[in-house]
Amino acid sequence: MTEHLRIPQTRDDWQARAESLKASLETRAYIDEAFVDAESGATLTTINPATGEVLAEVASCDAADAEIAVAAARRAFDDGEWSRRSPGGRKAVLLRLANLMEAHKHELALLDTLDMGKPVNSSLGDMAGAIGCLRHHAESIDKLYGEVAPTGDNALGLVLREPLGVVASIVPWNFPLMMTAWKIAPALAAGNSVILKPSEKSPLSALRLASLAHEAGLPRGVFQVLPGFGHSVGKALALSMDVDCLAFTGSTGVGKQLMQYAGQSNLKKVFLECGGKSPNLVFADCKDLDKVAEHAAGAIFHNQGEVCIAGSRLLVENSIRETFVEKVLTAAEAMQPGDPLDPESFMGAMVDQAQYERVLGYIRRGVEEGATLRSGGKALDGPGLFIPPTVFDDVTETMAIGREEIFGPVLAVFGFDSEDEAVRLANDSDYGLAAGLWSQDIDRIMRVTRKLRSGQVFVNNWADMDQTVPFGGVKQSGNGRDKSHHSLEEYSDLKSVWMTLVP
Ligand code: NAD
Repeated sequence: MTEHLRIPQTRDDWQARAESLKASLETRAYIDEAFVDAESGATLTTINPATGEVLAEVASCDAADAEIAVAAARRAFDDGEWSRRSPGGRKAVLLRLANLMEAHKHELALLDTLDMGKPVNSSLGDMAGAIGCLRHHAESIDKLYGEVAPTGDNALGLVLREPLGVVASIVPWNFPLMMTAWKIAPALAAGNSVILKPSEKSPLSALRLASLAHEAGLPRGVFQVLPGFGHSVGKALALSMDVDCLAFTGSTGVGKQLMQYAGQSNLKKVFLECGGKSPNLVFADCKDLDKVAEHAAGAIFHNQGEVCIAGSRLLVENSIRETFVEKVLTAAEAMQPGDPLDPESFMGAMVDQAQYERVLGYIRRGVEEGATLRSGGKALDGPGLFIPPTVFDDVTETMAIGREEIFGPVLAVFGFDSEDEAVRLANDSDYGLAAGLWSQDIDRIMRVTRKLRSGQVFVNNWADMDQTVPFGGVKQSGNGRDKSHHSLEEYSDLKSVWMTLVP
């Protein structure tokens, strides 16, 4: 697929691009600088969830492929062509890769949309995020200095930062290429060899990225892509004695398994970005409730609710609750799902049948548990897997829809009467990824912000952020941080050097 076709603007433009793209999909793994079938010859089927159409049979790697890739990654790391290249040299290659991604952004966005069902305009936004992430880390890596420790004259204490070695990045499907960039950009910039394991539900953009990385000049074995299932190739990477770091984004359940695999193998570093059930607190003193309601709806319905930081628990002060929920329902009405290739669609299709059934199962459970269904609740007619914005009021902490991560367009509304109750409800969760807070009272904002157990707090916005600010969670939402220069800390270690001097 070429990017010289005219810039797509309409649904028909995107459809035409999709047709030409489908004829030339890369479906093989990228190992040791070659596109290859899985050693076993196995494949997995990728399906467009908006249409049910089979897109491709993609190589399904397993432990044999993982072993070959890990050996290649280790060779590459040890020979130093990348790991010991000057930071400025690595920067030049990564900037070339960013430029290639920019040149192919429509194609990459389309791959994610076809693979996992999100609206194409949203995928284009992800490309801007992914490219920006790569540029940020490329640009920062040659501006970081080591440290000289404050010793006496009889010694020189140096603190050096060094790459870890072989990093396995295991990523989810909800923002396929953007989650990938958040992991691989700092890992590569720091000098590691990276093996990427995309989700079995969205492998296509990662495979295209492999060819762009090759074109950009990443040396052999420094970046490899192994599509396949988590329980197979993912587990093999996690148990490998020669992988130094697992950089994971995905569910809390799998995150816990990865920690066990690390313990069973070589105690590799495990950096986790996991699930969430994020509270969004709305106090009665807000000025513009219409605007807040639009943001509250967007916080959960963006990306079909398949967002780790989805504002899935809406906590509203009871004095404005009825009025506010009405406004949320009005906002949600305008966020219906539609054809992902239509630039006007706000939501797309659920990623696959399993996720679709899971979300519908939670909706049934919400009704059974006694929450009040205020909108949505029923899937749209097929063939695509579309679920409309669904709002439950009168949710309590004991209900599954109020506690568990649904990862779909389902909003749970709670009421509160006091600031203390709002904080207690917000913190009553296994998760601690994000929280929102809407108020005009600066004293309250700072009081509540400090009390929220959350990796990030959005004040009078939802999910406004950029590459300069760390992203990650506390409690069972994970450890460590993506984005910003702090993410480099996840992919490097300190080496202390003590030189004894004769003063
Ligand atoms: P998942 O945990 O099912 O899968 C994530 C990745 O792990 C996939 O590549 C999968 O193949 C792999 N995997 C599964 N089992 C494995 C195993 N036993 N060993 C090794 N690898 C294995 O998650 P998902 O359904 O792809 O993504 C949704 C989840 O991701 C949600 O919980 C969401 O909150 C979370 N998420 C978190 C963030 C964040 O930054 N905190 C961002 C996006 C998504």
